[in-house]
Amino acid sequence: MQSIAYGFPRLGRKREYKKAIEGYWKGNFDETQLDAQLTELHQQMLDAYAAQVDEYPTGEMTRYDWMIDTAIMLGVYRPADLNEYYELCRGEHALEMTKWFNTNYHYIVPQLDGVEPGDLSLTVPARPEASQAEHTPPRFLIGPFTFFKLSKGISETRFAEYLRAAAKLYRDLLEDYAACHIHEPAFAMDISESERAAIAEAYEIISHSGAQITLFTYYDSVDFLEELFALPVDGFGLDFVHGSENVGEILRIGFPEQKRLVAGLVDGRNVWRTNLSAARDTLEALSGVTSRLAVSNAAPLFHLPVTLEGESLGAQLTAALAFAEEKLEDISHLAATYDSGEREALPQSPAVPGEGSVRRTVEELTEADFTRSAPYEQRRKLQSQRFDLPLFPTTTIGSFPQTREVRKTRAAFRRGEITSEQYQGFIRETIADSIRRQEEIGLDVFVHGEPERSDMVEYFAEKLEGIATTQNGWIISYGTRGYRPPIIYGDISRPEPMTIDEISYAQSLTDKPVKGMLTGPVTIIAWSFTREDIPVHQVAYQLSLSLQKEVADYEEAGIGMVQIDEPAFREMAPNKHRRWADYFDWATRAFRLCVANADPRTQVHSHMCYSEFNEIIDEIQKMDFDVISIEATRSGGEVIDSFEKTDFTRQIGLGVYDIHSPAVPTQEEIERVVQRAVEVIPRENFWINPDCGLKTRDWEEVMPSLKNMVSAATSLRR
Ligand code: GLN
Ligand code: ZN
Repeated sequence: MQSIAYGFPRLGRKREYKKAIEGYWKGNFDETQLDAQLTELHQQMLDAYAAQVDEYPTGEMTRYDWMIDTAIMLGVYRPADLNEYYELCRGEHALEMTKWFNTNYHYIVPQLDGVEPGDLSLTVPARPEASQAEHTPPRFLIGPFTFFKLSKGISETRFAEYLRAAAKLYRDLLEDYAACHIHEPAFAMDISESERAAIAEAYEIISHSGAQITLFTYYDSVDFLEELFALPVDGFGLDFVHGSENVGEILRIGFPEQKRLVAGLVDGRNVWRTNLSAARDTLEALSGVTSRLAVSNAAPLFHLPVTLEGESLGAQLTAALAFAEEKLEDISHLAATYDSGEREALPQSPAVPGEGSVRRTVEELTEADFTRSAPYEQRRKLQSQRFDLPLFPTTTIGSFPQTREVRKTRAAFRRGEITSEQYQGFIRETIADSIRRQEEIGLDVFVHGEPERSDMVEYFAEKLEGIATTQNGWIISYGTRGYRPPIIYGDISRPEPMTIDEISYAQSLTDKPVKGMLTGPVTIIAWSFTREDIPVHQVAYQLSLSLQKEVADYEEAGIGMVQIDEPAFREMAPNKHRRWADYFDWATRAFRLCVANADPRTQVHSHMCYSEFNEIIDEIQKMDFDVISIEATRSGGEVIDSFEKTDFTRQIGLGVYDIHSPAVPTQEEIERVVQRAVEVIPRENFWINPDCGLKTRDWEEVMPSLKNMVSAATSLRR
């Protein structure tokens, strides 16, 4: 059995990738030094592969992102030098970023407006390549279909034309290679008839290069396997972990003789050791339809941290875990034991059971447990009596600038250099300062500012039972930016209140309502690794039950508003629309469960930060919140237009300015955004707020921006 792997994390064991690139940005290294470091890292990736598997690609290193590299390769952008390259990625006029499929990786979105098919031309970008001594591994490439499908600015009617033009360039490029791995994860999306025809035509062209091509798809099953298998390439890598329908379909339709089937059986997206005996059963079934069978990871390994080495997660949990390096071992182990046939030698993944009664509680939930005691219209009346807010109430999304001082003090506390009392005292001062500032600005609804939270998921993960956090389990979220996803391994419970001290302290300093801030269950799951021994909706409901207790504590302390952030709500949605109903059913229930017991006079807010709202507007209404705030400024008018077609009855704050930019919006700019929005949204439903938290900004920008926002509200009210 041949073993194959791809997508190994480029970050490095000690986040060398981040240090190298950020060092270049700071001027500590020049281009040659940067490339030397990236080449070294690439070599480490190749060495990790070579130690475990038979086949792996070269060319997976990038200075920032594969999609922008592909755009440059096709001549869409022609940066003159490395600085211009980074301008495209992160400069003041940087290209847009968006989520890569249903993952938390963000890619740079190529913008093809104004680019004609005839403008495309092959420019092989200088990529840091490791030298290859004995043999040349297959070249890694993002495929042309995925490239165009995920780009912006080409009309559907001309899609095939672009694809054809690009296919010729891929063909020319591949003439120099003996073998290549072309990645087409977009094949696992909902693909139309005409797109299938365009794919067939493109791969017919590419096949003339003479290179031996293996096409990889992942993140879901492919709905057109018969047509896929007819493409003139040498083999296909499929995802048998997230593509639950792939195996059954192959057993039904068969597999072309002579071609190679690469069975993705080792999960690249979650951290659990592979159930080797189940994987082997699948391999045995597949061996009935093809003799050229290989085994690989399913989905790229960069969704995982590099290695478990150095983590102290306890013996039982550690034995159940596998990060990228350990997944390579799983692949190799699976291939070896398949060959030797020694079933007994397969280690079982140990279950890590949780404790407590939460599982039973979840099983016994009934419809009433997900439902607030009064309908929205009734709550609205009660709440407006309670809060007596003006037209166009002003507020913010939760976090205020996490200054150097905040970060330094937290680090000192974590290192044990200051006591818990000193740290708590500092947090209180920071909260008091932000309350004073909000009074000065004149906002209507306050927040405590979240100075105690380094990360909105990690903060709750550290406080809840059943969730572990790692020392060094970094993965890239975009560019050089990493985060450490917590690991949900057992039943979840809340040993003690998590946020009430800070929120009620803030409320004690002001007569204005302070919103209690919680991270929602879907976002906690989306930005963590989660257990798989129970269905995901049960994990979500367990989280909701802990958050429900937090809401009850708020009410007892007289906090009248709670905001449950769900920025990952859209990204968690499956790649295929036919799986949406199921997902949105549990996701919206999980949200409702958090607040189902809340008094009708308690105002429930939610926040989501992306702009493609139109597709999910109806699902979102089922969350039954009272107020939602979303991002709107970066997508121009698109979001606002989407409200023309729906009957959105809740209160809504469409972000009136873009917090991702340091620019201070003027009062007039803000008024214009609001005026445009209230053409389609009833003015009595409209809140005024920035489009996301202000954590990454400085007070020097935040104070004038929010003051202009409040002036805009005052003037609009008049
Ligand atoms: N309340 C969070 C904050 O303001 C929300 C962050 C987010 O939407 N990602 O930082
Ligand atoms: Zn946001």
